[in-house]
Amino acid sequence: PFADPETGAAVKAADRAHVFHSWSAQGLIDPLPVAGAEGAYFWDYDGNRYLDFTSGLVFTNIGYQHPVVVAAIQEQAAKLVTFAPAFALEARSEAARLIAERTPGDLDKIFFTNGGAEAVENAVRLARLHTGRPKVLSAYRSYHGATSAAINLTGDPRRWPSDSGSAGVVHFWAPFLYRSPFHSETEEQERDRALQHLEDTIVFEGPQTVAAIVLETVPGTAGIMVPPPGYLAGVREICDRYGIVFVLDEVMAGFGRTGSWFAAERFDVIPDLLTFAKGVNSGYVPLGGVAISEEIAATFATRPYPGGLTYSGHPLACAAAVATIRVMEDEGVVEHAAALGEKVIGPGVRELAERHPSVGEVRGLGAFWAVELVRDRETREPLVPYNAAGEANAPMAAFAAACKKSGLWPFVNMNRTHVVPACNITEAEAKEGLALLDAALAVADEHTR
Ligand code: PLP
Repeated sequence: PFADPETGAAVKAADRAHVFHSWSAQGLIDPLPVAGAEGAYFWDYDGNRYLDFTSGLVFTNIGYQHPVVVAAIQEQAAKLVTFAPAFALEARSEAARLIAERTPGDLDKIFFTNGGAEAVENAVRLARLHTGRPKVLSAYRSYHGATSAAINLTGDPRRWPSDSGSAGVVHFWAPFLYRSPFHSETEEQERDRALQHLEDTIVFEGPQTVAAIVLETVPGTAGIMVPPPGYLAGVREICDRYGIVFVLDEVMAGFGRTGSWFAAERFDVIPDLLTFAKGVNSGYVPLGGVAISEEIAATFATRPYPGGLTYSGHPLACAAAVATIRVMEDEGVVEHAAALGEKVIGPGVRELAERHPSVGEVRGLGAFWAVELVRDRETREPLVPYNAAGEANAPMAAFAAACKKSGLWPFVNMNRTHVVPACNITEAEAKEGLALLDAALAVADEHTR
């Protein structure tokens, strides 16, 4: 294996001296110096290789260093590396066309951003201007990004330090049967009660004050809670009844992750706005955007849209999107993700749940699965308390350390590990990762009652 510990030490020293990392206490982190990556794997400078069950932050849907996409980026760099947003450019036009052809319904206009949070910011701006209403509803147990509107919409503890009185945001409970906020016992009850709760919230807030409902089609970081059949269609109906814009955030769920181009397809629902980023070009170059319905786009036909970004539709990012979408099409990546869920990852994690007392529930679809770890399967007490840190989080930290030691890089959030590898990971690689997860779960089992 590749090894160059001296360079690794220098990379780490400069990082520790000068890089200020996201979401971290700067003095308490120990970032692994990474030397390279390919496909579903990456490696450090000390000769260790890791199978990446995180896809970075769930964005390398086609794996690392796909040669076709790398070549397309190189070609675009040589041809026209950058240009201002007000011009019509080949890479941008083509990316917009390919995305619009894949988004559901009449979401045929694409506003490009640099990432997911900016996509959410602009979706909210579009909805407020289109309706002339101030408020936005979003779910607890959600993540929508770290900029102002996006972090206020977020329904997990990452919002708390940045909450600006939630700035026109009202949170509600979305369905999650395993930890039902409505004390439901069946998916039908959970769906009906969640819809009633959402409608009650709107009625008591004043429907004429609500611009948008923003939901992740399948909530990602918050726990991959696949909505019960009929829930999203019910939200669509409520939006139509009250003239509210329906925004689906597909930053994580989009571009093949759930086994369809967009998760909305899987639930047969068409939003008015759809946000995307991550998988659009597997994060090879920063890119995100909002797909906009005909009706909302028409609002801005003669009235200027008051928002923009210097790098909106950057040619390098758009060329990467064009190449990524073609690769996904040519190599059947979306179908592969669906098959992984049905034949490999789904059965694999269900089998883990049978054997490990620490596994309370597994859920997901495509290449998008959550394994929820508990102390006690009967009471469903989480393996670590909500938002645990330090000593309280020790069982999860020990589980993650066991994964890493065995060569598996796990996605860990609160009391969950997510199985979110590249959507084009081979069956054999996925099985290898599940076997490593199996071994590491013995560490979590030690903390059960
Ligand atoms: N929305 C969802 C559903 C996400 O998962 C994320 C990031 O994880 C975002 C928005 C924010 O995207 P970004 O980090 O690119 O700003």
